[in-house]
Amino acid sequence: MARVAQKSLDTNVTYLTGVGPARADALRKLGIFTARELFLHVPHRYEDASTVAPIAKLRIGDDATIIGTVVSKGVLPTRKGLRVFQAVVQDASGLIEASWPGQPFLDRTIKKGDMLLLTGPVRFFHGRQLVPREFVNLGTDESGTAGGRVLSVYPATEGLSFKIIRQLIDKHLEEYLPLYVEHLPDWLLQLAGVPSLPEALRMVHRPTSITEAERGRARLAFEELLAVHILQARAKSLAREQRRGTAMTNRRELTSKLKQVLPFELTGAQVRAVREIVADMCSDRRMHRLLQGDVGSGKTVVALFAAMLAIENGFQVAVMAPTELLAEQHARTFEKLLAPLGILPVLITGSLGAKARRAAASRLASAEPVLVVGTHALVQDSTEFAKLGLAVVDEQHRFGVEQRNALGKKGARPDTLLMSATPIPRSLALTLYGDLDVSILDERPPGRQPVTTARRAEKAREKVLQFVEGQVVQGRQAYLVLPLIDESEKVALRAATQAFEELRTGHFAHRRLALLHGRQPSEEKDATMRAFRDGEIDILVSTTVIEVGIDVANATVMLIEHPERFGLSQLHQLRGRVGRGAAESFCILLGDVSPDAAERLDIFVGTDDGFEIAREDLRIRGMGDLFGERQHGEAMFRIADPLRDVELGAFARTGAEQLLAKDPDLSKPEHKALNTVLKKSYSKALELFRVG
Ligand code: ADP
Ligand code: MG
Repeated sequence: MARVAQKSLDTNVTYLTGVGPARADALRKLGIFTARELFLHVPHRYEDASTVAPIAKLRIGDDATIIGTVVSKGVLPTRKGLRVFQAVVQDASGLIEASWPGQPFLDRTIKKGDMLLLTGPVRFFHGRQLVPREFVNLGTDESGTAGGRVLSVYPATEGLSFKIIRQLIDKHLEEYLPLYVEHLPDWLLQLAGVPSLPEALRMVHRPTSITEAERGRARLAFEELLAVHILQARAKSLAREQRRGTAMTNRRELTSKLKQVLPFELTGAQVRAVREIVADMCSDRRMHRLLQGDVGSGKTVVALFAAMLAIENGFQVAVMAPTELLAEQHARTFEKLLAPLGILPVLITGSLGAKARRAAASRLASAEPVLVVGTHALVQDSTEFAKLGLAVVDEQHRFGVEQRNALGKKGARPDTLLMSATPIPRSLALTLYGDLDVSILDERPPGRQPVTTARRAEKAREKVLQFVEGQVVQGRQAYLVLPLIDESEKVALRAATQAFEELRTGHFAHRRLALLHGRQPSEEKDATMRAFRDGEIDILVSTTVIEVGIDVANATVMLIEHPERFGLSQLHQLRGRVGRGAAESFCILLGDVSPDAAERLDIFVGTDDGFEIAREDLRIRGMGDLFGERQHGEAMFRIADPLRDVELGAFARTGAEQLLAKDPDLSKPEHKALNTVLKKSYSKALELFRVG
């Protein structure tokens, strides 16, 4: 009966009271296996009760946060057939109605007597009404704010609400905290002015003020930044060794021919990028270059010049794209452009038949200089290259580190070209990728029409939908994007599915609609995208960011709901999906947003320059949002934000320099603990620094 008495941070979470098999499963999904990991799961935000407004004080037009108890609730139908969940909440000062249009299922999870924390605009609708943009169900227990006036909100997952996580941490924090041992030397903590690890963990989990929570966070962030600088220093020496490569010769055979057959002139930026790439490939250093350029800036053709150089030197070339659809699109583009050169690209994807697959494989296995386009099927064991000289990874941020590296390992030190539309500041690129050169396409091919962009309030919904209908009547297609707007993916997905059903049976009952979301298997997503590309779908409703790089010239409308949920760069990526044909295209942001959000969104509305937008994004929201979702497997920074934590970053750099000067390979006894932690916690990140 008695559980293992020996308490240790390595104790499996299943042995903690309050954790059964189901919760253990859910914790695992969050990457939490041991007690140590549980306490390193820190709040992603805090609600400070001092910023909560008394309900009686709310005015129409406010954007407010309130905490109140549900005194009554129910689901109401509206004239438009939309079902609305409503709850009346009360605090010491008064009552207000809260209303969730299109989310009747909330009736099942929100109970009378529950305490809710609500954030959103207050509007006039038979009196004051709050429309929550976000809410947290604090449940019936009031312990949430008991420890102080600051409420910790944890990243949650399906089957494990942030409340349960908070309860678990509450229950065990006192007993496990003393087991943490600081592994950073004292002088480093003093240099950065941060508390020791156990103290920092208490501060982040149970702060008495937001300032204290920030102090605790700083300790954890400092360690991440320090780790980056240490790893980077090691990576540099490693890279020097790894960067030996093969020198190609600029024969100007295929590349000159390509230039002649191109239906357009290269932009100045493209010429520059090609020149940089050719120089890399012709040096005896291995190329490791990022080609960065806004959507539509023409990265593909630059890659094609690199490919021609490799092929005229007798090498094979692999171009890897994140989806089958994109791979097919590239294959078709290459086929068209290269036909006059007598080069036929080979396509390799997962859905290729066994026979075609074998045929392709045998061409790669012979030393024939071929151009191969494909998905991650290219990096599978069964795909072997006899003479890979150039590896190109399109939309590189969509791939995991392992996949990117695996392609480079298919040959003997091939040159590597990574391509991405997500602008990464140089300093950050260095931090993320170690030793990396960057080429930038900062010029747009001529003759491109800008996309007409506008922001519309909720009350214009009817008109906006009519406008979309008008475009469809003209034979055009539209994208409609719904972000995930809840802490729980499941609830949000249900909301999206419902919104989709409402459009499908209501406004657009006579149109062909399809829904695309992240939980669908990729074959299903590809099939939907293909149907859209082939004009079999009029309106594509999507909860995920629509497949990057996809080119549907007939799509002229991008309608985005809850635009405030997106980073500006993400919005820009979305906008890039339209305006690809000759017809005028439109990007419409729909919904009521706070004045702050409006200001931010209007920057996006006002400019079409991806780099300017990225700069604004970085300035306003830090780098987390730049990438949209956090990238799994390479979350070097779970806590730190290198663009914001500038001062901590400087301390970390100085700290790392001093530390490595004392003990270059951290082999001294006093650095043993740190070395172990680095190896354990950042082994994934270390992968980042492998070249190719
Ligand atoms: P991205 O950088 O987003 O991958 P693409 O390489 O797909 O962009 O190019 C977008 C479109 O622009 C393609 O249709 C391509 O043929 C065209 N294009 C590329 N370079 C030029 C150019 N210099 N002049 C005119 N059109 C160009
Ligand atoms: Mg592209």
